[in-house]
Amino acid sequence: GVSITGLHKSYGSNEVLKGIDLAVAPGEVVCLVGPSGSGKSTLLRCINLLETPNAGTIEVGGHAATDPDVDVDKMRRSVGMVFQQFNLFPHLSVLKNCTVSQMQVLKRSRSEAEAIARKHLRSVGLAELETRFPGELSGGQQQRVAIARSLSMDPTLMLFDEPTSALDPETVGDVLAIMRRLAQEGMTMVVVTHEMGFAREVADRVVFMDGGVVVEQGPAEEVIGNPQQPRTQDFLRRVL
Ligand code: ATP
Ligand code: MG
Repeated sequence: GVSITGLHKSYGSNEVLKGIDLAVAPGEVVCLVGPSGSGKSTLLRCINLLETPNAGTIEVGGHAATDPDVDVDKMRRSVGMVFQQFNLFPHLSVLKNCTVSQMQVLKRSRSEAEAIARKHLRSVGLAELETRFPGELSGGQQQRVAIARSLSMDPTLMLFDEPTSALDPETVGDVLAIMRRLAQEGMTMVVVTHEMGFAREVADRVVFMDGGVVVEQGPAEEVIGNPQQPRTQDFLRRVL
């Protein structure tokens, strides 16, 4: 799980996160929603230590990520991240995309890394495409490769930052279906998304952020179905 207390993050004089408290239990799926600029991506980047917070504590899997002598690399390895823009290595085949970090970071042998990659590529329905290059795939297929690549690193936590926002409508469903299955299998997940249907169906909890704070959170049926805060109500009126 994840435990965040009093998290502050500024860029220069721009305070983007203004004291975030958020706990995600092991196996829990949290959907993070909120308007553009509210700090959702910044929060995810703090969780996987791509950003250094100005104040506050973050624990991942019981380890204090904000401890000065934490093993940052080990911590990052345990957190998978999937981005809107896939971020695959364009010059590597689908299979190599899924093996290179396993070999370089986890020091797995090529054969072991390939076996693990193929297991995950099969699970996202892409076993036949392992020799292709990212540029030869649809957006939805590329995103499924990105998910398989992350899973190949055995993460204990998966972060998704608007994973379907850049996809053609007809491929969104495939990616959401894989995420839904991952959730059912017990993966701990934090998902930034505008897919309210997905949030309603899959999230154990929905967290609404605005202006760098958590405005409202609770079960999806409450936060999306019956929001209490005016800012949440405004936001939902615009996205639903
Ligand atoms: P969106 O829905 O558009 O993705 P968001 O909720 O993910 O928005 P963030 O990307 O976290 O929002 O950005 C929050 C604020 O922080 C914005 O005002 C943004 O301009 C600022 N910001 C984000 N990253 C940086 C950076 N690297 N340097 C300076 N400012 C940044
Ligand atoms: Mg963002």
